[in-house]
Amino acid sequence: MSEEKDLRHKKRMERKKALIDASIARADKEKGLLLVLTGNGKGKSSSAFGMVGRALGHGMKVGVCQFIKSRTDTGEEAFYGKDPKVDWHVLGDGFTWDTQDRQQDIETSEQGWNVAKSMLKNACYDLVILDELTYLMSYDYLDSDRVLDDILARPDMQHVVVTGRNASEQLKELADTVSEIADVKHAYQDGIQAQKGIDL
Ligand code: ATP
Ligand code: MG
Repeated sequence: MSEEKDLRHKKRMERKKALIDASIARADKEKGLLLVLTGNGKGKSSSAFGMVGRALGHGMKVGVCQFIKSRTDTGEEAFYGKDPKVDWHVLGDGFTWDTQDRQQDIETSEQGWNVAKSMLKNACYDLVILDELTYLMSYDYLDSDRVLDDILARPDMQHVVVTGRNASEQLKELADTVSEIADVKHAYQDGIQAQKGIDL
């Protein structure tokens, strides 16, 4: 009985391997990707910073633009910011409910976008992270069409990762890979504050 089960398993895995090998053989194209990490669950920015580590492991050059947030004491910045292959920019001055000043937010966003744009025009950057960019688009601090045009005009082989909640349909349509992280539960709802190494 168990032998028969083992044999069936082996057969099924052989079939599966053939399918996977065929699909890997078909996926032979290379190009700079646009990835969008959105949704209300935790894990968008940390996933993007995971890709920073992957890229650095391959000797690639990385640019990081952190919009909205103003804190410069995060573990990821302390770790990656020291790397000569990483240009790390904190371009926010706080959440919109902190600044309470729309004109100031627009101005900060414009300045931030100029930094991002300079990376999107520079083929030296293999990977560009635009962390929390979606808010600048959904609050209309930046003109969405202009932002999308700048992203699309980047060098052919440059990868871009956009994070943030409520990614627009247009952004998701233009992206090559989109992940929506669902909020199943979060420790914050139990009154637990942001933990070093996990949340910052
Ligand atoms: P992370 O940076 O941890 O990957 P994120 O980028 O998915 O999180 P953001 O909306 O940027 O999420 O929020 C960053 C901070 O808010 C982190 O401290 C994170 O743990 C916390 N957070 C994320 N999602 C939730 C949630 N659903 N409820 C409460 N807090 C959250
Ligand atoms: Mg985030």
